Amino acid sequence: MMRLSKSVVGQKEVAAVSRVLLEDGYLGMGRTVQEFEQALKQYLGAEEVICVNSGTAALHLAVQAAGLKEGDEILIQSLTYISDFQAISATGAKPIACEVLPENLTIDLVDAGKRITSRTKAIMPVHYASNPGNLEAIYEFAKINNLRVIEDAAHAFGCRYQEKMIGSFGDIVCFSFDGIKNITAGEGGAVATKDKQIAELIKNARLLGVEKDTEKRYRGVRSWEFDAHYQGYRYHLSNIFAAIGLTQLNRFENEFKPKRIAFAKKYREQLQNIRQLQLLEGEPGEIVPHIFPIRVLNGGRDQLRKFLDENQIPTGIHYLPNHLLSLYGAQKGLLPLTEKIYEEIISLPLHPELNNEDIDSVTNLIKTFFSN
Ligand SMILES: *Cc1c(COP(=O)(O)O)cnc(C)c1O
Repeated sequence: MMRLSKSVVGQKEVAAVSRVLLEDGYLGMGRTVQEFEQALKQYLGAEEVICVNSGTAALHLAVQAAGLKEGDEILIQSLTYISDFQAISATGAKPIACEVLPENLTIDLVDAGKRITSRTKAIMPVHYASNPGNLEAIYEFAKINNLRVIEDAAHAFGCRYQEKMIGSFGDIVCFSFDGIKNITAGEGGAVATKDKQIAELIKNARLLGVEKDTEKRYRGVRSWEFDAHYQGYRYHLSNIFAAIGLTQLNRFENEFKPKRIAFAKKYREQLQNIRQLQLLEGEPGEIVPHIFPIRVLNGGRDQLRKFLDENQIPTGIHYLPNHLLSLYGAQKGLLPLTEKIYEEIISLPLHPELNNEDIDSVTNLIKTFFSN
């Protein structure tokens, strides 16, 4: 059966992991993590990059470093991975669920504006399906309202906004390298920022708050005497994972990126004239799509899903709105547009190991479904 998403790894990753295991012999955070950070800094054009062991950890530390705590509020679209909401609530801060724009499923600033209170400290834009949306307007909104911006760029590794690489500008930008993202480290994540103070806070917090531990580990020494000033976690990346990440980064531009762009383009061309479907806005060339969600407008989403499944085509739903979860108040009715769109979205298979025939078979089945 075709896969909805897939890790694309092979002998190169095996060789890189073998080098760490058999030659370096140091499996924790050390030289290879430092190398991965340097390579990411260079590729993204970022000033500071701090690697951690998941995208969720990156988001959690970013929220903490931005100074959010118990009682503070952060604006976030409800239609996103639960990771964002958990990363926020882990600090004691409150995620304030907002609507999305129907054309690209990024945060609706008009709706977000209505939810601002004296406790609002930050906004977390999600680059949904790799689209940064109107990031310029988001930063303008943040400036006017004196908010920090924490970008969830988990889908947007390697994407550009107005010709600038995501992660090379902005406030605090979080990436994920989980198994199926644009590049993987097995598991992993990173924060990119130009704020030196934020970078320092995150560097220490990923290692239990132990001051200056990162520099020591990169020199291969341990901290026996130290101080800690704030809550930290065991969120550092290991050399094993960094070795996979470095290999994937080297394969991204020539192997993974062109495939993802080409398959999404092909989907667009073949599906654009089906009147029961609404494609999301995209900026071809700027976006390296991580997922390919579309909207089914006539209430037939579940039947289409079933039909594709019966024909061995797996699909996904990105995502269940978080304001519907018990943990976040099970507030059905709070966000009517988001709830409607949740019933419409379906994500089609997208990963670099598909081929043109796979895309054709998916779109042909969709055409068959709607012609009946
Ligand atoms: C993958 C993902 C995350 C979290 O990353 P992990 O590495 O899985 O912890 C956060 N937000 C979005 C939108 C994601 O897709």
